[in-house]
Amino acid sequence: MRLKIGVLGLQGDFREHVEVLQAMGVETVVVKLPEDLEIVDGLIIPGGESTTMGRIMKEVEIREPIVEKAKAGMPIYGTCAGLILLSKKVVGHDQPLLGLLDVDVERNAYGRQVESFEVDIKITELGEKPFRAVFIRAPKIVRVGGDVKVIAEYEGAPIFVRQGNIMATSFHPELTRDFRVHEYFLKLVEA
Ligand code: GLN
Repeated sequence: MRLKIGVLGLQGDFREHVEVLQAMGVETVVVKLPEDLEIVDGLIIPGGESTTMGRIMKEVEIREPIVEKAKAGMPIYGTCAGLILLSKKVVGHDQPLLGLLDVDVERNAYGRQVESFEVDIKITELGEKPFRAVFIRAPKIVRVGGDVKVIAEYEGAPIFVRQGNIMATSFHPELTRDFRVHEYFLKLVEA
C-alpha cells in the first residue's frame, strides 16, 4: 500500500511541506477537516503562528481527532509552531495545545539573534553531512521528559526530538532542498 502523508493546512507554511513531499514522490493530502485524517498514514504540523493555528484547530474541531489518532499510533511531525502545538506547556502563555510530546517550550526564544538565522548542525542519525537548519522566530525546548529522545542540539538546547511516534524540530527543513528530516519521518510512518 502506498503511503499518504497529511500536512495540516489551517495556517502557516504547509505548502512548503507539500512541495518537499511531492519532490520526494510521496502522496500528500492537505488536511483541513477531521475526516481528512481518516485517509492519511502520518501528519505534519507546519510552522506558522501557534496561537492562531491552535485556535483554528479548535474551531474546526480537529484538535481531539488529532490527539486520538496520535494515541492510536499515527506518526506526527511538528516543525516550529508545530513543535509548540505538540508540547505540554508554553512558558508564560496560555494557549490551546495538543500536549502529545513531553517537552516544555519558550516561544520566540532565539529572538535576540535577529528574527531568523541558519546554522549547519551535525545530526548523527542523518549521516555525516551537516544539516542546514533554518530558524524563524523559533521556540526553544526548555524541558524534555524522560521518554523523549534528543536527536540534535544547538547551543545546549534540543532542536530535534522524538517520543515514540511523535517527532518535532524547532527549525524548518521544508525550507531547504535537503530531504533527510522528512525521510526520517517517512521511516517512522513506514515502521
Ligand atoms: N513564533 C511562532 C510561534 O510562536 C513560531 C514561528 C514559526 O513557526 N516559524 O507560534
